[in-house]
Amino acid sequence: MPEVVSEHDSVNAQYRVVAEDEITNVADRFDAQGNRCKFCETGLRCSICSQGPCRITPKNPRGACGIDGAGMVMRGVLHQNVMGLAAYTHHARDVAKTLIATGQGTTPFTIADESKLDLLAGVLGIDEPDVLARAEAVGKGILESLSQDSSEESIWVEALAPESRKKVWRELGIFPGGGLIEIMDATTRSMTNIDGDYVSLAKTCLRMGIATFYGVQVPLEMGQDALFGTPTPHEAKVDLGILDPEYINILPNGHEPFMGFALVQAAEAEEVQQKARDLGAKGLRIVGSIETGQEMMQRLETSDVFVGLTGNWICQEYAIATGAVDVFAMDMNCSIPSLAEVAEKYGTRLVAVSHVIGVPGMPSRTSQNARGGPPTPSRTPRTS
Ligand code: SF4
Repeated sequence: MPEVVSEHDSVNAQYRVVAEDEITNVADRFDAQGNRCKFCETGLRCSICSQGPCRITPKNPRGACGIDGAGMVMRGVLHQNVMGLAAYTHHARDVAKTLIATGQGTTPFTIADESKLDLLAGVLGIDEPDVLARAEAVGKGILESLSQDSSEESIWVEALAPESRKKVWRELGIFPGGGLIEIMDATTRSMTNIDGDYVSLAKTCLRMGIATFYGVQVPLEMGQDALFGTPTPHEAKVDLGILDPEYINILPNGHEPFMGFALVQAAEAEEVQQKARDLGAKGLRIVGSIETGQEMMQRLETSDVFVGLTGNWICQEYAIATGAVDVFAMDMNCSIPSLAEVAEKYGTRLVAVSHVIGVPGMPSRTSQNARGGPPTPSRTPRTS
């Protein structure tokens, strides 16, 4: 059992709570893994086909298929690259769909920063005077760009990358197309007996990096700035100590902040706060968790409704163990598979607000789309 699991006193205090209650948690699980497998640590193992698993040793320098150690390692790195690009492409697609829905007037959102919408519109060649029609067109343009063929040059990279870098990328053959097609090409390439050359695999990794940043993360972040405002430096609170058990606390958790912003808007209504008071709580608060909380915190001032950020994904079991979390609303990314046991012990309702989230034993899933819309707290709040 580790003595100290965090630089944060609140996390250490909550660790002692779960340890005493013998509840599964990340610090104990990490510790229990002990010394890691040397083959896995060095990337010299592979199990992607039925001829494996294979391991590279001095006596056996190739897998059963014939791939060497360098190829095996780089193919493993490429698989990880593909997962990263896929997850960000998923997020960018949801931003695009939210822009479209906002333009059509079917979300609770408006365009908070028109300059960011204009930046995106400029790259996409959209000249539409009406801001909502422009948001819809930009959303559709982003969606289309994600499927740009890999034989073409990404419009985002072409518009936004420095000329000196584009020249090098063209020479190396790593100027990417759209994220979705790049994922398809890279996944195909990294199957058994397709690309076993560590050099071309490494180049594909670089190509994935360019596609991820310019082709996906830039439209994703600029789109969120357009929807929710551009982040500005300001004071905010980050710690498990912001959880007050006198309030109903809803924690939007994940990477995509649509539900979180919709929740804040809904919770600002006096009738919602009165309902919480009628149930015996002091009110209802939205408390950010991991990247979703960070996306919210960097754009929202601390208020009576939005009170800050609990911490990163490693904190989520310790946050729930405070007993102050009524609803843990899980959007895309970073809801750990062991949450149900912790949630049951400390009285938290788990609600998946993304169709890609799957936590064994979770009782609730909302139909998730790009329109936002808050889940309804269904538990009586604790008042002590
Ligand atoms: S792809 Fe090659 S190294 Fe990997 S499991 Fe199959 S045979 Fe073994």
